[in-house]
Amino acid sequence: MAAAALMRVLVMSDIHANLPALQAVLADAQDAYDTVWCLGDVVGYGPNPNECADTVRALPNLTCLRGNHDVAALGSSQIDDFNQYAKTAALWTRTKLSAATREFLAGLNSREARGDFTLVHASPRAEVWEYIDTVDVAHDNFPMFSTPYCLFGHTHRATSYVLDDAGGCTEKLPEYRQALPLAGQRRLLNPGSVGQPRDRNPKAAYALLDDAAGSWEARRVAYPIADTQQQMRAAQLPALLIERLDAGR
Ligand code: ZN
Repeated sequence: MAAAALMRVLVMSDIHANLPALQAVLADAQDAYDTVWCLGDVVGYGPNPNECADTVRALPNLTCLRGNHDVAALGSSQIDDFNQYAKTAALWTRTKLSAATREFLAGLNSREARGDFTLVHASPRAEVWEYIDTVDVAHDNFPMFSTPYCLFGHTHRATSYVLDDAGGCTEKLPEYRQALPLAGQRRLLNPGSVGQPRDRNPKAAYALLDDAAGSWEARRVAYPIADTQQQMRAAQLPALLIERLDAGR
């Protein structure tokens, strides 16, 4: 992909094998994008790992990063750090992965740069594991990337952090379906989670990045949560993981 070309980018993260949520995002975004950046955790927790991997792989001009659940699904010992629910789901996911999905996940990198943007799953300081969930952690991560902007996921919360001229950092929550001009200040931007939101909003989250306009538009879209939950029950995935989708937490 030519970095110099102007792009309209669909930015998404933490799909977590939730195909109804992924399909709702793609339907909502329609033709508003020509490029896709996926910030990792395509699988884990949800009932559709192969369907989600197949769908993501087919998206145009795709850059996809490796998340901690993608690593765990491939058989990493890092699964030992998971809580019991995540571990149960990761072990289930391991038994379901197709050869094509394994090959796809194994080929992902933990950090990419595209024009003015650094892309990671978790944080530029610890690409796969650190949670940027406070202003202090965000502040400490700004020196860890050299581009103006860094896109991250992992916390499952749609938000952004802005570095001001004096070196101070503030959190700026999204105003949905409004284009946020990026120009001027360094930012850490999180599109939220497609398949398992944890910011008390159960709708699937994603963002549209317009390279020509220099703007970021956060979006939420409803999806048939009950369809995902029914498949999770059939797969005997943990009840807590099923129930949390209703509350978005
Ligand atoms: Zn995740």
